[in-house]
Amino acid sequence: MRQIAIIGGGISGLSAGHAIERLTRAANIAAQVTIFEKEERTGGKVWSLHEEGFLCEWGPNGFLDSKPMTLELCAHLGISERLLRSDDNARKRFIYATGQLHGLPENGPSFLKSQLISWPGKMRLAAELLIPPRRDGVDETLAAFARRRLGPEALDKLIGPMVSGIFAGDPETMSLKSCFPRICELEQQYGGLLKAMILLAKKKKAEIKAGKAVASAAGPAGILTSFVGGIQDLTTATAAALSGPVRTNTAVTAIRRQSDGFELSLADGSSANSEIVIFAAPAYALAGITDNFDAEMARILREILYAPMNVICCGYEREKISRNLDAFGYLIAKKEGRATLGTLWDSSIFPNRAPQGKVLLRSMMGGATNPGAIDLSDSDVLTKVRADLQQIMGISAEPDFVRIFRHPQAIPQYTVGHSRRVEGLRARAALTPGLFLTGNAFFGVGLNDCVNASNQVADAVLAHLQA
Ligand SMILES: Cc1cc2nc3c(=O)[nH]c(=O)nc-3n(C[C@H](O)[C@H](O)[C@H](O)COP(=O)(O)OP(=O)(O)OC[C@H]3O[C@@H](n4cnc5c(N)ncnc54)[C@H](O)[C@@H]3O)c2cc1C
Repeated sequence: MRQIAIIGGGISGLSAGHAIERLTRAANIAAQVTIFEKEERTGGKVWSLHEEGFLCEWGPNGFLDSKPMTLELCAHLGISERLLRSDDNARKRFIYATGQLHGLPENGPSFLKSQLISWPGKMRLAAELLIPPRRDGVDETLAAFARRRLGPEALDKLIGPMVSGIFAGDPETMSLKSCFPRICELEQQYGGLLKAMILLAKKKKAEIKAGKAVASAAGPAGILTSFVGGIQDLTTATAAALSGPVRTNTAVTAIRRQSDGFELSLADGSSANSEIVIFAAPAYALAGITDNFDAEMARILREILYAPMNVICCGYEREKISRNLDAFGYLIAKKEGRATLGTLWDSSIFPNRAPQGKVLLRSMMGGATNPGAIDLSDSDVLTKVRADLQQIMGISAEPDFVRIFRHPQAIPQYTVGHSRRVEGLRARAALTPGLFLTGNAFFGVGLNDCVNASNQVADAVLAHLQA
């Protein structure tokens, strides 16, 4: 029996295990996959808590259906019928800027009408059509890219909030090509983003006319999708579908090369042997594991830094909030100087997240631009969240329900140099046949990205087993 060990039981490790079991079964290879997970539960950042009738997501609240990977995983697991698409009312998103909430424009005419960006800012954005593409291959920050192509106002009110919404990141340090490779490609392929949008829209129109594509209300970003029981249904079902052992409460502390594979040292003092090892834990954990195995690998892993974040769930009686809540929520432009990064109107996105007659709002605080927030006391966190909800949404009532979740190392930051680091890590791993890398530290932070990277690792593991 060929032994495969996976370090880390988040979505990356679990989906890698599932894909490897599926592929080895189909190829008639006798293999056993063992997941080693430090915590007492699997799921990692995915954790759905049901309390007092509210469903609070500790980490992610869903994945986008515009990419196929997670949907395909659900189909393999037989859980597609439990999928829950976000409510149509929640398509609208807001940006808080210049002291008010502005609907995020969805098309050209609504952009022209919107007061989110001033007229000079709109003219500067339109001038993007005239700016030649940068072809020197420099690993540019998101802020430098935005200033160069779109202007400073678009950086403050569009790019900055988007980066804090996805990465809790700082656009002044994050790498465009690692965070948004598609945007980089569009500049190279079409000469600019507006040119790309115009040409792609024309192409899509022609395809719809020719019956080769269907018009989609979802737009390119897709629809946020979860499960009735919360996003944890995904990781719980993946773990349950594994035939091999899932060893929770089992941290790996070190790895050693052996003639026929690897020896893993475990926190309880025991060890385990495996022909193949897949790293699917956070970079900082892997750095500790590899210190005495490959010092250069450990050094690079330590360069991948994580931003901290507090997630604050507030539940209210619906009648205590006077404003319309038919939207996804809002992100905040940094210049507004608010304590939170934004607030998702969770029970508008998925109505079953709050009991009848109540609503659930989920605020994010901290990130790379405000790392000190992780050290605030619960009462300070709540005071700041309430001040923002009052200022932005006019909510003066005290919440009836509050949960504060803390992520000291929430999301890996793909800062400038990230692609070089990942190449360096791939090169180090290639020196050790049988060692593979997956996880959100390297290849994308979205759940779709994690599943995609793990599918690719599974293909590579199969090729290794068949070699
Ligand atoms: C607040 C928040 C909101 C988010 N929202 C979204 C969203 O809406 N949509 C989306 O697509 N993505 C979202 N993300 C990102 C997404 O949740 C993560 O990128 C993804 O879940 C990471 O999965 P992973 O398996 O790579 O890592 P993790 O979930 O971090 O799993 C790694 C696992 O390794 C284990 N481990 C650590 N050390 C060891 C060791 N020594 N031995 C064994 N095991 C170890 C950990 O306990 C953990 O279980 C969000 C993230 C956060 C924090």
